[in-house]
Amino acid sequence: MNGDGAGLPFTIFEQETESTYQTRPREWGMTLHWGSSHLTSCLPPSLIERLSEAYADPSLSPDAVTGLPIYNGKTGELLMEMKADKPCRVSRKKLRNLFADGLDISYGMEVDSIRQVNDGKVVCVFTDGTEAKGDIVVGCDGAKSRVREQICGKEKAMLTEVPLSMFNFTAKFEADLAKYIRGRNALFVTSIHPDTGIMFWLSIQDVPDPSRPETWTFQVLLSWVNNPLPPSEDTYAGRLAFLKARASEWAEPWRSAGLSLPPDTKIPNDKGTYWEKAAKWDNRSGRMTLCGDAAHPMTPHRGQGLNNALQDASNFVAVVTEAAKGDVGLAEAMDGYDKEVLERGSLEMKISLRQTMFIHNWETLMQSPMVKMGMHQAKKDDVGKENGSEGTRATRAEEVAT
Ligand SMILES: Cc1cc2nc3c(=O)[nH]c(=O)nc-3n(C[C@H](O)[C@H](O)[C@H](O)COP(=O)(O)OP(=O)(O)OC[C@H]3O[C@@H](n4cnc5c(N)ncnc54)[C@H](O)[C@@H]3O)c2cc1C
Repeated sequence: MNGDGAGLPFTIFEQETESTYQTRPREWGMTLHWGSSHLTSCLPPSLIERLSEAYADPSLSPDAVTGLPIYNGKTGELLMEMKADKPCRVSRKKLRNLFADGLDISYGMEVDSIRQVNDGKVVCVFTDGTEAKGDIVVGCDGAKSRVREQICGKEKAMLTEVPLSMFNFTAKFEADLAKYIRGRNALFVTSIHPDTGIMFWLSIQDVPDPSRPETWTFQVLLSWVNNPLPPSEDTYAGRLAFLKARASEWAEPWRSAGLSLPPDTKIPNDKGTYWEKAAKWDNRSGRMTLCGDAAHPMTPHRGQGLNNALQDASNFVAVVTEAAKGDVGLAEAMDGYDKEVLERGSLEMKISLRQTMFIHNWETLMQSPMVKMGMHQAKKDDVGKENGSEGTRATRAEEVAT
C-alpha cells in the first residue's frame, strides 16, 4: 500500500517467514481487470511501470485478450465469451513480490489476538507472545481472517461452506499441446461438460521463455458442485484417477491436457467458502477494520476477489489520509469505509456464489451472472438483472444447489 506516498507510517505483519513466503507450494493466477484502475492510488509510479513483471506472460500486451471464452466440454463448441475490461492474468506470487518491493515487512508474525487499550489505540498480540501497538489495525489476513474473528467474534466471523469441490494446481505440457491451448486464447480457456456440469479450466501461469512452449506452466482447475469425492477416493491417486476419467469424456484440448498429466501429479481438493454472516462490524471508533478476502471471502468463479481487494486498499488510503489531515474524524472516516466495503463485498459474495452454483449445471449455465453481466464490477442493479428478475433476493448455497 502506498502509505509512504500518503506520508503515513505503517507496519505489515505476515505470518509466513521470509523464506516460506517464497517457497509455499500453492500458486495460482488471477485475472486482473476492472481492479487495475485502483492501482495508481496504491502503488508508486515506479512499481506501476513494472506491473508486467507480475503477468503470467510478461511478453503479452495487456489488450491482447478481450474476454474469457467458454466452451461446451463435450463438443468443443464455443458457447460465449465472458467480456472483461482489459483482462490480464497475474501470478499471485509475482504480484505479491512486486507489491512488497521496497516495503519492510515483518515476516513470521502471526496475529493471535487484538485488544484496545485505554488511549483508544490497538495492540496486536502475536503467537510468539510479542505485541505491537498502533492507531488502526487492518485485517488483510485472507478468508480465514483471525482479525475478523477478533472484531466480530468467532461465531459471527464464521465462513459458510459451499458444496464445491475444486482441484486447483499447475502443470506443464508438451510443446504442441501447450501451443494448441494458447492458440484458442492466449490467457485462458474454460469449458463446462453438459452431462456432468463439471468445469475444466486451463490458463497460462508462467512463461519463462515465450519461444519454448514446453517451459510454460499452466493453471489447471477442475470444479463441480455437490457429489463430493468419497473419502476413499479423496487422495492424490484418487483425484488424479477421477480427473483422468473425466478428461477422457472431454473435447480437445482439455482431453489431452488431463490425460497427459504425469502419475506423480499431486492434486489438492479445496472447498468453497464465503462470509454469509457478513454484517456491520463494530470498528471500535475506527480502530479496527478489514480489507480483501478478510472482508469478503468469495468463491472464485467470477474472478473478483483481487479486483475488490485493490479497491478496498485504494479506498482505505483515501479515508485514512483525510482523517490524518484532520479533514474528518477517524471514526467517521472508517465508518464510511466499512459501510462501502460491506455493501460492495456482500453484493459480490452473493453474485459470485450464484455464478459458482449456476455454471456447474448445464440447465442454469445460461442464467449465470457471467452470461448476464460478464466480469464487470457488480453494481446494486445487477442483482435484479443477473437474477433475471427485479429485486434483491439473496442467493444462498442451499437455495441454488440442485
Ligand atoms: C483458484 C482461485 C482463483 C482465483 N482467481 C481470481 C481471479 O481471477 N481474479 C480475482 O480478482 N481474484 C481471484 N481469486 C481470489 C484472490 O486470490 C483473492 O481474492 C486474493 O488473493 C485475496 O488477497 P488477500 O490479500 O485479501 O488475501 P490472501 O491472498 O489470502 O493473503 C492473506 C495473507 O495474510 C497472511 N495471514 C493469514 N493469517 C494471518 C495471521 N493470523 N497473522 C498474520 N498474517 C496472516 C497469509 O499468510 C497471507 O499472506 C482467486 C482465488 C482462487 C482460490
